[in-house]
Amino acid sequence: MKYYANFKMNKTVENINEYFKDFNEFDVKGNEVCFYVSPALIQTSVNATNFNIGAQNIATSKWGALTGETSIEQVVNLGAKSVLIGHSERRNIFGETDEDISSKIKLAKEYDIEIVLCVGEKLEEREHKKEVIEAQIKHALNGVSNYQNIVIAYEPVWAIGTGVTAEPKDIEEMVKFINNLLEENYKVKMPILYGGSVKASNVGSFKSISGLSGFLVGGASLNAQEFYELIKA
Ligand code: PEP
Repeated sequence: MKYYANFKMNKTVENINEYFKDFNEFDVKGNEVCFYVSPALIQTSVNATNFNIGAQNIATSKWGALTGETSIEQVVNLGAKSVLIGHSERRNIFGETDEDISSKIKLAKEYDIEIVLCVGEKLEEREHKKEVIEAQIKHALNGVSNYQNIVIAYEPVWAIGTGVTAEPKDIEEMVKFINNLLEENYKVKMPILYGGSVKASNVGSFKSISGLSGFLVGGASLNAQEFYELIKA
């Protein structure tokens, strides 16, 4: 399965070197592991033996006068193998629009990098979550012609960092819904991840969800041993 970790704005070079030194010793064979770190820390993965490193975001342009942003060209050059696009914190804290997300996907498609498109409904959208997810996916993929190397992370916003998870049957229903949507509209199959308060003690109830390819994990990935236990659970 895929176990993708979002460190968000956490860890220094020292912290991350220590983490990766520990993690390199763990046996995670048969799984795909990726850590999304802040751009300044991407290069710390040079000694990685059992994981990839990814970027948490990219700018909407390749180059230019965008103070404080980091471009796809820069993260690829630093060694990122994957990029998160449309994380709910980008959408809701930084006001990222569907149009921005679509531009970022089209830009990233010019590179040999995996794209993890994050989608999810807010608490007040739960009643019509399928329409919300359908609109997010259709906007994001608008104008994209090559769907290879795109992963969908279904992350209900109300479950991120709250300790509350979606019910396995609801996740299964959403996985099925997303799969059908992709098949009907784009004739493709993409791996689907679940994210939202996943940890070692609850991951067991999600691992058998039909069609689910893995997890995007925030808080429970910050400690190497804890994240390893989640993978092994
Ligand atoms: C996330 O940030 O994508 C996430 C799933 O966070 P957490 O696991 O802390 O809910």
